[in-house]
Amino acid sequence: MNAASRIATVALNRPLATPLSYTVPDALAQEIMPGRLVEVPLGPRREIGCVVEYPSTIPEDTTFRMRPIVRVVSPGYVIEREVFQLARWVADYYMCPLGESLASASMIGFSDLAWKARAQYRLAQDWSGGKLTKRQREVATLIGESIFAESRPLAVLAKLSGATPALLKKLVETKVLVQDVEALPAPFKLPAPDVPLELFDEQRVAFSAVEGARVAGAFGVFLLHGVTGSGKTEVYLRLIDRVLKDGGSALCLVPEIALTPQTVERFERRFQQEIGVFHSQLSRREKFLLHEKIRRGVIRIVIGARSAVFSPLPKLGIIIIDEEHDSSYKQGETPRYHARDVAIMRASRLKIPIVLGSATPSFESFDNALKGKYVHLKLTARPAGLQMPCVQIVAMGGAGAMTTPDAGMLSPQLRDAISERLAKGEQSLLFLNRRGFSNFLMCQACKWVARCANDDIVLTIHRKSGSRNEADTEWQLDMFPRPLPTHEAFLKCHFCGQRHEYVPKCPDCGEEGLVALGTGTQRVEEGLRRAFPEANILRLDQDTIGGRRAFIVAWQKMLSGEAQIILGTQMLAKGLHLERVTLVGVILADVGLFIPDFRAEERTFSLLMQVAGRAGRTNMGEVLLQTYMPHHPAIQLASQHNYEAFFDAEMKRRRKVRFPPVERLIALTLSDENLNRSQSEARALAAIMRRLSHRDELHGPAVLGPQPAPVEKLAGRYRQRILIRARQTAPNARLLRAALAEWKAPSSLNLTIDVDPQDLL
Ligand code: ADP
Ligand code: ZN
Repeated sequence: MNAASRIATVALNRPLATPLSYTVPDALAQEIMPGRLVEVPLGPRREIGCVVEYPSTIPEDTTFRMRPIVRVVSPGYVIEREVFQLARWVADYYMCPLGESLASASMIGFSDLAWKARAQYRLAQDWSGGKLTKRQREVATLIGESIFAESRPLAVLAKLSGATPALLKKLVETKVLVQDVEALPAPFKLPAPDVPLELFDEQRVAFSAVEGARVAGAFGVFLLHGVTGSGKTEVYLRLIDRVLKDGGSALCLVPEIALTPQTVERFERRFQQEIGVFHSQLSRREKFLLHEKIRRGVIRIVIGARSAVFSPLPKLGIIIIDEEHDSSYKQGETPRYHARDVAIMRASRLKIPIVLGSATPSFESFDNALKGKYVHLKLTARPAGLQMPCVQIVAMGGAGAMTTPDAGMLSPQLRDAISERLAKGEQSLLFLNRRGFSNFLMCQACKWVARCANDDIVLTIHRKSGSRNEADTEWQLDMFPRPLPTHEAFLKCHFCGQRHEYVPKCPDCGEEGLVALGTGTQRVEEGLRRAFPEANILRLDQDTIGGRRAFIVAWQKMLSGEAQIILGTQMLAKGLHLERVTLVGVILADVGLFIPDFRAEERTFSLLMQVAGRAGRTNMGEVLLQTYMPHHPAIQLASQHNYEAFFDAEMKRRRKVRFPPVERLIALTLSDENLNRSQSEARALAAIMRRLSHRDELHGPAVLGPQPAPVEKLAGRYRQRILIRARQTAPNARLLRAALAEWKAPSSLNLTIDVDPQDLL
């Protein structure tokens, strides 16, 4: 063995341009391979990294004494070769360090986890049948509500239920609590199998197109374009079924919030096996176990949010991206990858088909379908004669609409429609994509507006929970509402999350005439409680629903019909199939149209289409869109379910400005605590790029800016934005790489690179 063959390169999860070299002690030589996690010395400390190359092709540098790898962590764990290569592509395309990309792809970060079998307990399926004392039953119920079907160590259950160890021991003895050994597949109860439906014509065409490609071993991107409830999921299930029968495995990505038990259950019913459910709120340990089950082939179907795109499924035969237009597929931090695009790359390397499903495809995907790069498959109608809901636009702000003092944001039409549903025992779903009580606090005298000291973001007014009282009727007026009593409210920044004191007087001019303008979900909830004091109202937004568990509890209230009026933010728009909902009301359809982002209209349109699709899944539904802009194309065309007309109209604008999907962007954000420095550095970088761009070999991408970012100050840093724009990403990236090689930034400056940005705030 020569010296170089005992060197491994190791990538760390930090912004380092290249992996570092270490020697491999003899004792570890057998275990080390690319994808293993290892502990290495770094300066005076130790850190966990991922082996990139071993044996390394880098010749040993004799002038530099390399240090040895300390040990292998998470023994047995390895990032599979296929996923490893995908992570390499991510690092390259999204221009981020390989270590950061590998840390995402590892699904567990670079952490040290053991494969120890620890006894965990959960409720037996049939526990409630047995003879129990009242207290035992109470504890069992509590445990059931807090952990559902998952398992926990006894110590955790004791904490959750407040029960004594002796009582829990008793429950174990009587087999109310049963033990799971983590290393084994969880023995859980599957729902009763369902019968696959006879596909209707359009579904059959779609199915055959994708299945044909798969059987031929061909890569292909299939855009399954069908309104909500048109039977897309049924097509996915059929396709996955074929893959399983051929011994393969399947990956299905859904937006995080659509990952409801309902979705999972539909898969369990059909496939009668354990489904891997991967979401961001799993603990590292849960992720680790899931990773291993997937890698070892115990689990062959994975449904998950964004990061599940890196699931190490062996013999992957198909990838499904449901709601492919959803912006949550793009990661907002390094590596800023788009899971849909990573999945397309993965499918193309594996030569398998990938299905992108949506009622409102992203413009990028639809454009690719029109150009013939993707196969466009359409489902034009809902099955079995179910009709699309009838959408009515309610113009707000006109005569009479807002004059009743207690109207809140409820037009008479919407109020009547809700009353009707309450009388018939049906559910109403109300939607407002704005949380909090009011949108901002303004001084009428000098127009001062309360802003966050960190970010310069306009602060949202929140009402402290439990502070509602009956006497405060005067600020029910929506036109010029008075501020809340000081002690009942606080201000919150929706960017950095910081809470601020509620100010009674204008700090600029001392006036007391401060007004709380605009309406958030909290205020609508209050309006609803006044209008319908008897009704059971459920509000869902980030303030009421912290985590996945709370969401599932709320979701059960919706499903059971206990909640009669459901009010919420965009959480409500995704993937909920509620049979009793016959009315959907959009409190203010215009929210979001004026966000300074070129996709504002596209997002609004697609959100309205999604929300409207929640109505009438099983019977005729009605949708009311309240708006101050009844003639806006995004609102008009959404009410007519006319995606293509909206696409054509909006594309005219995109062509003019040559923004995506016409051309592609890389967005650079430079930030510094010092405003001048951020500006001068941004100008310097833009100047380098402009000069280089005029050279032929870089194909001259356009360099736009620098300009202050729409959110100019964030977390105390001033932000400048530069956009690089060209027909393809490759010339953009070449230009940026060349420029960065020349540019010398001060250490206080922070540069983020966002390839194919989704969010330009
Ligand atoms: P999507 O995924 O497009 O929202 P789903 O696959 O959930 O649509 O289908 C919507 C409803 O239509 C479901 O209740 C489903 O059971 C039913 N459905 C789907 N395909 C068929 C079919 N071929 N025949 C009858 N009903 C169907
Ligand atoms: Zn003032």
